[in-house]
Amino acid sequence: MTMVPRAEAGSYPAGTACDCLRCGKPWRTRQEGKPEQCPNCHSSYWDKERKPRKSVPRGTGGK
Ligand SMILES: [Zn+2]
Repeated sequence: MTMVPRAEAGSYPAGTACDCLRCGKPWRTRQEGKPEQCPNCHSSYWDKERKPRKSVPRGTGGK
């Protein structure tokens, strides 16, 4: 795994279009820098996808 260094912040100039991966809200940043949270759902993980849960197979049988 490669951790992205702080240079990442430079890729968020003012007006960057963002999409919240949690609630799906699209918005644009007002100031330079990565938004700390989604303006809609206030999740600080707006840019992180939820961890995929183990999908429990359902409906296979029942008996
Ligand atoms: Zn959101």
